[in-house]
Amino acid sequence: MNIIVLFGPPGSGKGTQAEILAEKFQLKHVSTGDLFRYNMKNNTPLGIEAKSYMDKGSLVPDELTTEMLKDELKRNSEQKGFILDGYPRTTSQAQALDSLLEELFQTTVKVTIALNVEDETLVHRIKKRSIDSGRSDDADENIIRNRIKEYYDKTAVVSQYYIDQEKFVDIEGEGNREEITAILSDVLVKWI
Ligand code: AMP
Repeated sequence: MNIIVLFGPPGSGKGTQAEILAEKFQLKHVSTGDLFRYNMKNNTPLGIEAKSYMDKGSLVPDELTTEMLKDELKRNSEQKGFILDGYPRTTSQAQALDSLLEELFQTTVKVTIALNVEDETLVHRIKKRSIDSGRSDDADENIIRNRIKEYYDKTAVVSQYYIDQEKFVDIEGEGNREEITAILSDVLVKWI
């Protein structure tokens, strides 16, 4: 089973690229942000709890997030592989992911690919996309900047976890969508 992690700050293009790559490589796209938004829309207890964190641009606690991810992976156990977008976001989540992949599928992450994008480009992109996304956390610059801060404070360090395992690839995330898809596809072909 192929488990791919797409890594990078908010606005780096993970969601867009994950959707394209999922189709191209027959992987199931799993976005923890989308799962939280689905729960929020349906007013589930998980959605209600997550909302208080998401509205501020803070990370939702690890345990809640990992439980939700585990349920989603279990529900899709017939898939040939997954492309994870927005998980793991802390080192503790990366460790939890290894445990649950072992438990559910006796497998591990194949490769983590990071998209590098300048902070000001991130802010600009997220503000622009807020028109279509309708996300309140995309519309407010303070929330956007807090999400980027959370990335540097808690998420960026996760790259070391995968560097240590020699399964981390860093690519340039600025530039046109098709070019970035092509670069990501080249990386995936080598790893899966
Ligand atoms: P995203 O759609 O990936 O930008 O995520 C939107 C929001 O959902 C984030 O700002 C967090 O509040 C929450 N979230 C998504 N994935 C995670 C995660 N792996 N850990 C904690 N919070 C998350």
